[in-house]
Amino acid sequence: MEDCLFCKFVSGELKIEKIFENKNIIAFNDINPQSPIHILIIPKIHISTLNDLGKNNNVLMGELFLVASQLAKKNGIADKGYRTIINCNEYGGQTVFHIHLHLLAGRVLKWPPG
Ligand code: 5GP
Ligand code: ZN
Repeated sequence: MEDCLFCKFVSGELKIEKIFENKNIIAFNDINPQSPIHILIIPKIHISTLNDLGKNNNVLMGELFLVASQLAKKNGIADKGYRTIINCNEYGGQTVFHIHLHLLAGRVLKWPPG
């Protein structure tokens, strides 16, 4: 999609250091980390928000979580624990409208979130 920051990371129009890539997904470090480890895991196809998911996206969404769990193990944070988040729209705090899974780890995370 034109004018989508994350689509530009996927296409290579904007350079990003990828920490994971497969056919459907890329992952990279968040530019403004909220914890010692803060990774964004995104589908290569443009889906704006959780509200825009279709039934045909269910395998893809499962794959995002599988990659989160694999990256957690790779980073040695699986046993201590971590958090995965997808923000949706204004009240959810979404600022980039290309769906992405946050993987936050490396400190005790408070609950409830702000
Ligand atoms: P949201 O608020 O939409 O759930 O999350 C968007 C995330 O994208 C934020 O955590 C923000 O720091 C991150 N982000 C925004 N622009 C960039 C960028 O240019 N590069 C990277 N690596 N992350 C970005
Ligand atoms: Zn996009």
